[in-house]
Amino acid sequence: MTRKQVVIIGGGFGGLAAARSLRQADVILIDRTNHHLFQPLLYQVATAALSPGDIAWPLRTIFRCRPNVRIVMDEAISIDRSSRLVSLQQSPPLPFDCLIVAPGSRHTYFGHQEWESFAPGLKTLADAIRLREKLLRTFEEAEREQAATGSHRPLTFVIVGGGPTGVELAGALAEIGRKAMGPEFPSLRLDDLSILLVESGPRILPGFAPELSAKAAASLERMGVTVKVNSPVSDIRADRVRIGNEWVLSSNVIWAAGNKASSLVDSLGVPQDQLGRVKVQPDLSIPDDPWIFVIGDAAHCVGNDGRPLPGLAPVAMQQGRYVAALIEDHLSPERRKPFVYQHRGILATIGRARAVAQFGPLHLSGPLAWLIWCVAHIFFLIGIRNRIRVILEWIWFYLTFKPGARLIFNQQDKPLDDSSARPSINHTVSYLSLDRSPLPRLHLVKKTASDE
Ligand SMILES: Cc1cc2nc3c(=O)[nH]c(=O)nc-3n(C[C@H](O)[C@H](O)[C@H](O)COP(=O)(O)OP(=O)(O)OC[C@H]3O[C@@H](n4cnc5c(N)ncnc54)[C@H](O)[C@@H]3O)c2cc1C
Repeated sequence: MTRKQVVIIGGGFGGLAAARSLRQADVILIDRTNHHLFQPLLYQVATAALSPGDIAWPLRTIFRCRPNVRIVMDEAISIDRSSRLVSLQQSPPLPFDCLIVAPGSRHTYFGHQEWESFAPGLKTLADAIRLREKLLRTFEEAEREQAATGSHRPLTFVIVGGGPTGVELAGALAEIGRKAMGPEFPSLRLDDLSILLVESGPRILPGFAPELSAKAAASLERMGVTVKVNSPVSDIRADRVRIGNEWVLSSNVIWAAGNKASSLVDSLGVPQDQLGRVKVQPDLSIPDDPWIFVIGDAAHCVGNDGRPLPGLAPVAMQQGRYVAALIEDHLSPERRKPFVYQHRGILATIGRARAVAQFGPLHLSGPLAWLIWCVAHIFFLIGIRNRIRVILEWIWFYLTFKPGARLIFNQQDKPLDDSSARPSINHTVSYLSLDRSPLPRLHLVKKTASDE
């Protein structure tokens, strides 16, 4: 039997799991970056607790002992189903027998894309580094101003979105702002620092049981975060944000509120939901095309409860492995069992020794939940070296409250995806390697017009 050529778009959680499981086929893995990114710890890079290299790993290194997997660093721009070709930005089109589409999702500003420049989101390493620079620069500027004039002005951070990312960011900012920055910025008064977590719904962490949401909110309040629920954001400007009927002065607004599937899946020309996700068949293939699959955040796959599965890393990984097994076994559509997600639980951390965890009927909070959160995240990180480094950083931070990655590189505070400010690839490598040893060699993600 001839070997199938399987093209995978996206080296995130779904694409990586599929590529790792495909041992018989010839696999081409396309990603616009050269690395796999562990998004759940992205907020720790954004708040300077971890370095970029701690949570990302080059795809070529991951597959160096897998001759059947070829890596192509390029951007997929469209998929032509009839001619079985994936068009790429910089290389000739790639033919495929089977296609796994796993490009993930991007931020959505609910029809207000103009808010993006004032309220950046967190999706890629470039986003995290840009946010880190902005946060660190804000503290430096406030210190400079207050040392020079003696006057104090409020330093307000607003995080929009009370899901796990917003909660984790708010907690990390409170800890770093109060415990790490406080002692090192003598002119700043901790009273001047305020952190607002804003959620349009009735409670934060809506995916968790109400009692865990309440515990998370109480923990955040104790850490100095003001939690505002039932408070939709209706406008964002350069120096202010409108929350409900009130304007809050802040030039540090962070967006953690909405996701939309990558626009690449539009080119498949099949039904999508309101979030742009492809409505896949029970075997994750697209209608009328049993050898094109969409997985992960880009897929609308209905779970046992009749609702679409959430955008979580374990969903994407299980889907990647499921689809790889169908391809390896050459299973025709009528012989395929539907994909069933094995839900093992959800976790969210709030800060040092504070987290919430929900495993079916078992609900945990506090230090035990936090320990489980730490172990789970270390377990899913790629590479022994990254695991050891992250454990050491966490222990160091736990004991000293001194985060290790508080470096500002970018003098002009220009966005990294602004073409006028975008570093060359060589520049980018040395830029990142300032953080750590020259390995791993990571390229920053390039945001393109298709994702705007
Ligand atoms: C800040 C943050 C925190 C999170 N925390 C958690 C958590 O604690 N627990 C949890 O379970 N989930 C968490 N998630 C969600 C989880 O990361 C996603 O559900 C998961 O990454 C989805 O996997 P995926 O394979 O669909 O997409 P991704 O992992 O996003 O991978 C998509 C890949 O495709 C590449 N790509 C995109 N478009 C193209 C293109 N056109 N051409 C080539 N390559 C392309 C990207 O570079 C990327 O590598 C978090 C997400 C974020 C952003």
